[in-house]
Amino acid sequence: MRAWSVPAPGPVGTGSLRWGRKPVPQPGPGELLVRVRACGVCRTDLHVVEGDLPVRRAGVTPGHEVVGEVTGTGPSAAGFAVGDRVGVAWLRSTDGTCAYCARGAENLCPASRYTGWDADGGYAEYTTVPAAFAHRLPPGIDDVAAAPLLCAGIIGHRALCRAALPPGGRLGLYGFGGSAHLCAQVALARGATVHVLTRGAAARRLALDLGAASARDAYAMPPEPLDSAILFAPVGDLVPVALRALDRGGVLAIAGIHLSDVPPLRYESELFYEREIRSVTSNTREDAREFLALAAGHGVRATTHAYPLARADRALADLAAGRFDGAAVLVDDAS
Ligand SMILES: [Zn+2]
Ligand SMILES: [Zn+2]
Repeated sequence: MRAWSVPAPGPVGTGSLRWGRKPVPQPGPGELLVRVRACGVCRTDLHVVEGDLPVRRAGVTPGHEVVGEVTGTGPSAAGFAVGDRVGVAWLRSTDGTCAYCARGAENLCPASRYTGWDADGGYAEYTTVPAAFAHRLPPGIDDVAAAPLLCAGIIGHRALCRAALPPGGRLGLYGFGGSAHLCAQVALARGATVHVLTRGAAARRLALDLGAASARDAYAMPPEPLDSAILFAPVGDLVPVALRALDRGGVLAIAGIHLSDVPPLRYESELFYEREIRSVTSNTREDAREFLALAAGHGVRATTHAYPLARADRALADLAAGRFDGAAVLVDDAS
């Protein structure tokens, strides 16, 4: 099959992502073989390709927002049949036995493994997924529109929960890419006032089109104090900026898996009055089920830009440069 791989991480555009051939994977015990129809492009893929995240599998195929069709099943794979539409997300497996898994926090499992990092993902014609970690997708959302829901959407949902937004509250979103534009739709559907703070003019326009009350530069102050903020941009310099925008008792959630260093914080103006900072780590399968139901119920839709599978390198370069709003999705038009 045709597939992308990461022979050695480095800046995108320098050969760190290679287009070539790999054997079609064989589904192991409990796994499904999936023919990829669409695969979203997530900022985490960029972190894998560029080496912001350590190598966990040599020559890995990135991609963890996969919509595909089950074309084979390994021994004792239950719950899905050949021909079913299926979603493959970031969380690939956990041990199911540790203290975190036992208390419903499988996102913190020390033995957790991830699609497109520990195992080959969806920048390819085929991939595999443990059936227990595969997702059923709401009907009525096409393959391209559904792909970004599988990481960007789920993480945005978890970040919104971690940000503890009160009913009808004032939410600030720092950065407005794939995850934030889905998160904004859920927050707006629940009656929040949303302020977007981001560098890109196209992203600010999209924010206003979706119903944001304001859209300003990332380093500007929002027009009113915030009850909650979510930092989607991987920029540690924005942490004190977002903290200063919070009202007393406000919460800042940091949504990314990677963040540049946070500068020293000033206690009085940035933390006192019970402002809080919280990180967001991966997601549970329950987060995914909740979000996919919310997305179907509220009509949450990704703004997508389709790229041929063979141009994943271009899609990642455009993501790095902020050249599109919403989310990029790879489509295998040779199939
Ligand atoms: Zn565990
Ligand atoms: Zn992702």
